[in-house]
Amino acid sequence: VPRYISSDKDRVRVVVRVRPMSEREYDESRKPQKVLHCVNENSIIFDGGQHSRRFTFDSVFNEASTQDEVFQYCGIKRLVDMAIEGYITTCFAYGQTGSGKTHTMIGAHGASIFRMDEQYRVEHLGIVPRSINYLFQRLRDKTLQSSSPYYIRVSYCEIYNEQIRDLIRPANPDTLQVRGSIEDGFYVENLYQTYIETIDELLTILEEGELNRAMASHKLNDTSSRSHALLSIQIEQDVQESDDPNEQMTRQGKLIFVDLAGSEKVKLSHSKGKQLVETNNINKSLLTLGNYSKLVLFFIHITYMDFLGTCISALSDPSKRSGHIPYRESKLTRLLAESLGGHGITLMIACISPSRLCENESMNTLRYANRAKNI
Ligand code: ADP
Ligand code: MG
Repeated sequence: VPRYISSDKDRVRVVVRVRPMSEREYDESRKPQKVLHCVNENSIIFDGGQHSRRFTFDSVFNEASTQDEVFQYCGIKRLVDMAIEGYITTCFAYGQTGSGKTHTMIGAHGASIFRMDEQYRVEHLGIVPRSINYLFQRLRDKTLQSSSPYYIRVSYCEIYNEQIRDLIRPANPDTLQVRGSIEDGFYVENLYQTYIETIDELLTILEEGELNRAMASHKLNDTSSRSHALLSIQIEQDVQESDDPNEQMTRQGKLIFVDLAGSEKVKLSHSKGKQLVETNNINKSLLTLGNYSKLVLFFIHITYMDFLGTCISALSDPSKRSGHIPYRESKLTRLLAESLGGHGITLMIACISPSRLCENESMNTLRYANRAKNI
């Protein structure tokens, strides 16, 4: 039984990370090259020449921020703590391809980070392995105080073109389906789940998962930029609510990490988009508006915004709310409904490049991140 947070305060945290300019982005002929300037730990200025705009977020990490600084101050530790307490928490990285999502989540050089020497790894590992490390530390401390052990169950999958692929057991058929309901939660049928006991087991899963992801995308002659990777870490503990030993229940918290597809890819042509999103409209009884929080709608919006203009405008018009919402839903949003739509806690990490070459995408990312703040 997942626990629910009672107040909306602090439910959504939005942070921005600006990566350093790449060599390719340095272009001596075009000055100034940078359109983004981090002013302090909360503000960033977008200076597009014609207009300039200041944004504030829960945290802003600049080009010089280290992996450890991002981990320490982005708010992920709170999510880990709350997942241990039985809450459902989600951390997702958002931004255009090449903006630093995988670097921030997994580490420098993606999966290759795991083959680097110890010293390099310590410095360059991303938020996910750091969080896992922190999780194990916390559980060790907590197990010392309580007699009841914790169990950690992990699954790792990728959603590409509305197909779910198992990243732990890639031989699993491509046709994994999402089952469940808003009330009982959604899950991926037959997705491999494994209990793990050590951090090394989890890091191995992460490494193999990243490699499987890269391999699959290579086969498709594509990059992983079009897929969403979803790592789910379930933390279970048998808890005694009363003195009656028969009244034991299992507390289940969850920590979900999502490395989203590149945000620029949502601007697909309409025919391609049709394949991407299931065409059937959602049964109203299953997905009433009341069950769907603004955050889910926002999430659908940022992941598939092509199709959602009409839905969003329908939803923001109170007179239409009780009627049919013309929306199509994705597997990703369904899987995250429990977390985003229930009373889970969410951390959005918006990744951007400071380069003028990425000006438009960066502005889009900042605008969406800014909108997420108000949810
Ligand atoms: P994405 O996953 O958003 O497509 P990547 O994480 O693969 O982007 O980053 C693209 C490139 O930029 C990679 O070579 C990565 O190592 C580099 N990079 C991204 N963020 C940083 C950063 N904060 N510091 C140094 N290099 C970075
Ligand atoms: Mg990536």
